Amino acid sequence: MIKLYNTATRTREDFIPNHPDIVKMYTCGPTVYHFAHIGNLRSYIMEDILEKSLRYHGYNVKRVMNITDVGHLASDADTGEDKMLKGAKRENKSVMEIAKFYTDAFFEDCRKLNIKRPDVVEPATNCIDDYIHIIETLIEKGYAYAAGGNIYFDVSKLKQYYIFNDFSEDDLEVGVREGVTEDSNKKNKNDFVLWFTKSKFEDQALKWDSPWGVGYPGWHIECSGISMKHLGEDLDIHCGGIDNAFPHHTNEIAQSEAYLGHKWCNYWMHVHHLNTNSGKMSKSKGEFLTVSLLEEKGYDPLVYRLFCLQSHYRKNLVFSWENLDNAVVTYNKLIAKIAALKPGEGEVDGAAFDELKAKFLEALGNDLNTALAVTAVYDVLKAKTNDTTKLAVLDDFDKVLGLDLIKKAEAKRKELAAAAPKTGEFTVICESGEPDAEVEAQIRARQDAKKAKNFAEADRIRDELKAKGVEIIDIAGGAKYKRL
Ligand code: AMP
Ligand code: ZN
Repeated sequence: MIKLYNTATRTREDFIPNHPDIVKMYTCGPTVYHFAHIGNLRSYIMEDILEKSLRYHGYNVKRVMNITDVGHLASDADTGEDKMLKGAKRENKSVMEIAKFYTDAFFEDCRKLNIKRPDVVEPATNCIDDYIHIIETLIEKGYAYAAGGNIYFDVSKLKQYYIFNDFSEDDLEVGVREGVTEDSNKKNKNDFVLWFTKSKFEDQALKWDSPWGVGYPGWHIECSGISMKHLGEDLDIHCGGIDNAFPHHTNEIAQSEAYLGHKWCNYWMHVHHLNTNSGKMSKSKGEFLTVSLLEEKGYDPLVYRLFCLQSHYRKNLVFSWENLDNAVVTYNKLIAKIAALKPGEGEVDGAAFDELKAKFLEALGNDLNTALAVTAVYDVLKAKTNDTTKLAVLDDFDKVLGLDLIKKAEAKRKELAAAAPKTGEFTVICESGEPDAEVEAQIRARQDAKKAKNFAEADRIRDELKAKGVEIIDIAGGAKYKRL
């Protein structure tokens, strides 16, 4: 049984899907106006872990993700510049070129981080007719109105609206908070745009005909439309970063349930933010942290994946290069330990396998306790069972962890085998102090003397080195030396 924290009820609940044979999962996808930063990717790593955990627990999953290539304005509250237009202007390209480039870049980052591609990936611009149909129905049902050329959702028509925020309705009344510019077309402060027309955004690059004039959809409607198009009228799990909870997900629930006339999604999962020491992660200020930047600095992207797995998704996580360096040490040690296991040693012990797997399943089922799931890897290494069983269990865990444990360990084994001395070769190892070419040449000369049975010469060289403060220790296939 999987337990998941549900933001909608603010409790940890047993996960029970609507249909026993399939879990319907929806993920808010990226706004493709720039590269994803590693904060965005923390959300996608954890959502990938959720999907893989569900599959590991035996569920079939159908997962859908949108690509926001239209409609997301600089502010989630429908104000400011259009993000796609902003990207196109910045790079002197068309909106479609920007969308294609950054969609490809996003999936390339995902590939490097072992994030599985969702079963359905749908660009928002593919589903305009679906949004128009939903908006028409909302108008017919009295949930939406036209004002100033745009179509708005009327939140006052709902019995319940504020599902994901802790403010009371009074706190959010129009004009109560200072410094908030209000859209004078809105009847209520939290009303949101379903459809923009060109009367408001003359320079909008992508626009479509609609019953309300030429224009384009609001951001929130795309997720409701795409989810219903591919997953039907009910949804098991909807996920996104915590900033999506309000207003985006609140508005998705409002419009979807008003349209459907019944409950839409049962479980809401939100990944908390990755921050830097100076605060919020940004694409414009300070260091723009991307997967490419990690690679440029010599980090394996999977080290970042491990870094994310070491903390719980419902806690903020602080990124620093020092923290990432610690993850490098952990990852390298882990791979070295797995590389030391000998493949093909004995048969898989089924009972031991099941026992180790049970612990891992329990950790994941406990609201995705990935830190504990990583600890389960160490339990496997310490377990009293043969290496074949250990390797089989680790391979199985990696279906969820996605750390390439077996592949990297195999590569490490090959690397060690290549570096190991060939039969008959004489290796000289410096055990303390700096390696010294002259000393090493003398040690080799001593070896040659021994081979030629000139033991007097061999002893003379040993004594000469001793006088220099260097001690030689004979080992299999060579000699070690240390400074006394
Ligand atoms: P966007 O491309 O801005 O639509 O964001 C893509 C995803 O990243 C959304 O699910 C956001 O909620 C999430 N997100 C944004 N900033 C962060 C962050 N600093 N840490 C984790 N997730 C984030
Ligand atoms: Zn969304």
